[in-house]
Amino acid sequence: NALLQVRDLVVRYGARRAVDGVSFDVAAGETVGLVGPSGCGKSTTAAAVLRLLRPAAGSVRFDGTELTTLGASALRALRPRFQTVFQDPYAALSPRRRVRDQIAEPLRIHGLWSRADGPPRVAELLDRVGLDPALGERLPHELSGGQAQRVGIARALATRPELLVLDEPTSALDPSVRAGILNLLMDLQDTLGVGTLFISHDRAAVRHVCDRVLTMREGRLTA
Ligand code: ADP
Ligand code: ADP
Repeated sequence: NALLQVRDLVVRYGARRAVDGVSFDVAAGETVGLVGPSGCGKSTTAAAVLRLLRPAAGSVRFDGTELTTLGASALRALRPRFQTVFQDPYAALSPRRRVRDQIAEPLRIHGLWSRADGPPRVAELLDRVGLDPALGERLPHELSGGQAQRVGIARALATRPELLVLDEPTSALDPSVRAGILNLLMDLQDTLGVGTLFISHDRAAVRHVCDRVLTMREGRLTA
C-alpha cells in the first residue's frame, strides 16, 4: 500500500523510449533516490509522476489513485498532496512577487488561505526552511541561490504535502550552499516525515539523504 506506486512506466518522445518499463514504490515517509547519468530518463520519470506529461503505457498511483488517466478537477484536488522543487531556484519563482506572496500562492490556490492563519503560516514556513522572516519582503532577485531554493522548498511544503518530488534540487547551487540545502532536506524528513523522490546525478548526495537508491540507465532501472 505504497504512497506512490509506479508500474511498467513507458514514456516516448516520438519513436524514442525515454522511459522504458520502470517500476518502483515510495512508501509514506520514505526517501527514495533516483540516480543515473544525464539523459537516462530521470526528469521524464518525475514529469510522469507529477502528471506534467502522459506516459505511453504503465501506471502511476498516488495513495491508490491512478494519476495517468485522472481528470483535471480530480487532479487539482490531489495537487496539494504532492509537490515539487525544481533545479533552477529562480525559474520556479515569479520575478515580481515578494517571497511571502510566493509562499502564500499555493495556499491561496487551494483555498487554504485566510487572513488570520495565512501570515503566521508563511512565517512558520520561512522559519522551517531556515530563513529570516524579514526575507519575506524581498523579491527573488534579492535572494542568493541558496535562499531562493529555500523559498522553493517552503512553497512546496505550504500545503503539507505527503510526497515531494525533488528534481536535482541542489545541482544549480554553489557547492558551498549545497550541503546546507541537503541538511535542510534531511531535517525535513526527520521532522515532517514527507515521502520524497529525490532525483540527482550526484550519487554521494543521494546516498547521504536517502533510505533507498534506485539507479537508472537508458530508460530502465538497473539496481
Ligand atoms: P535525465 O533527467 O536523466 O537527464 P531526461 O528525462 O531529461 O533525462 O531525458 C531522457 C531522454 O529523453 C534524453 O535522451 C533526452 O534527450 C530526451 N528528452 C527529454 N525531454 C525531451 C523532450 N521534451 N523532447 C524530446 N526528447 C526529450
Ligand atoms: P511535532 O509533532 O514534532 O510537533 P509537527 O508535525 O507538529 O511536529 O510539525 C512541526 C511543525 O511543522 C509545525 O509547526 C507544523 O505546523 C509544521 N508542519 C507539519 N507538517 C508539515 C508539512 N507537511 N509541511 C509543512 N509544515 C508542516
